[in-house]
Amino acid sequence: SHCVTSIRSILKSGTTHGKPVDQEIPDDWDIDCYQKQTKYELLKQFLKATDRIAFGESVLKSLEDSSLVGKGGPGARTAKKWRTVKKYAEQENRAVRYVVCNADESEPGTFKDRELLLRSPHLVLEGMITAALIIGAERAYIYIRHEYESQIEAFQKCIDDAKAQGLCGRNLLKTGLNCEVEVFVSPGNYICGEQTAMIEAMEDKRAQPRQRPPDLEIQGYRNFPTLVNNVETFAWVPAIFNNGPEWYQKLGVNDCQGKRFVSLSGDINRPGVYEVPLGSTVGDLLEIVGGMRNKQQLQAFGVSGPSGGFLPRKFSRDQLPENFVKENIPEGENEFDLLNLPLDNNFFRFQLRGRFNLGAAHLFIGEQTDLVSLVKSCTEFYRNESCGKCVPCRLGSEKLVQIASRPLNEGKLQIPDYFQDLIELMQESSICGLGQVAFNPLLSLKEFFPETWEVAKSR
Ligand code: SF4
Repeated sequence: SHCVTSIRSILKSGTTHGKPVDQEIPDDWDIDCYQKQTKYELLKQFLKATDRIAFGESVLKSLEDSSLVGKGGPGARTAKKWRTVKKYAEQENRAVRYVVCNADESEPGTFKDRELLLRSPHLVLEGMITAALIIGAERAYIYIRHEYESQIEAFQKCIDDAKAQGLCGRNLLKTGLNCEVEVFVSPGNYICGEQTAMIEAMEDKRAQPRQRPPDLEIQGYRNFPTLVNNVETFAWVPAIFNNGPEWYQKLGVNDCQGKRFVSLSGDINRPGVYEVPLGSTVGDLLEIVGGMRNKQQLQAFGVSGPSGGFLPRKFSRDQLPENFVKENIPEGENEFDLLNLPLDNNFFRFQLRGRFNLGAAHLFIGEQTDLVSLVKSCTEFYRNESCGKCVPCRLGSEKLVQIASRPLNEGKLQIPDYFQDLIELMQESSICGLGQVAFNPLLSLKEFFPETWEVAKSR
């Protein structure tokens, strides 16, 4: 659509479709344990174990100790999720269980999973099969967006290779255990990446998010207990098992644990996918990408793609929570530099509503970009992608576009007095994440860029 193109043109490299980003293939990803060790070591050990239940428990313990959290969305604890499916299915005696890998990354500027799927699909497959064996599932799916043609091909080849080695399919290494893995090609649409909408699409229904509870761990694909994890989450499992949980924890910096992949784009010299330590600061990320393009100053930083809103280059004291100010701004100083901000899985939420963390995508916006137009474009994106199932999101996202549109004389944005009520309503009563974050780009303008708006004179 027009607005997607418009966002893309601003993000430059931030396409969510098609070819891999143009960057050198790194040969030193910490995640890629296969470079140093035999492929499928974890899976082979699992299948050869005399006590597989105890072995599965040791894998879960290892994931728990590593503090691995989901790398796709809100960051749920991986081991806890696996345990929930297993426990519920055993308690309720539900023999059929499923594993689904969500490879439908669609957020503008997010393209890290497509690199992993191309370069290290075996890591993802091994994580998926291990998860299936541990929770007692005999079937796993990878749900890949249809534009990822090379990734679909790479993953299918990976499944075929693993089958040839007896590590996928029926009677794995002659143990009598089974795990069929299938590629499910997403019919398309941004909302198909929302995990419950994804399950609906897999069931051949209209891809709209489900009301929760029940969670997918209890009632997922075809109403059976289903474990859904992101591509990267599965990919870390073999690396953590092979190297140990402490190894993973120590990969973090600034008192944070672990690493993750991020897609970095915008007005920077080397946009691309990078494996970075949790706890990296915005300044660290900017250094990795070779700084701003054309010597531009950094105007704003999009946290977790546009869904997290845009942060300013400098924060004043009153724009930050009291406890953060106490710890980070010395007496006598009034500003905090964005470049010193460390990003963690549990990054604080400012006073804004919405999520702010070291998510999958970050956007560096240069001074030459018209931030108001960018925010309008993001807001239109969410309006266009709203599935329309619930009223607060369907109507609210349209209202947001009206607010984000400059008045005819190209003056400041007019923020109406009901703006706060509108976002509270959207946050509290939208069924899925889209309605709960659609206002973040606009809200961040209101919180951090006061020069861009004024209070509307009348409704
Ligand atoms: Fe659909 Fe928006 Fe409601 Fe999500 S919040 S279910 S996208 S209408």
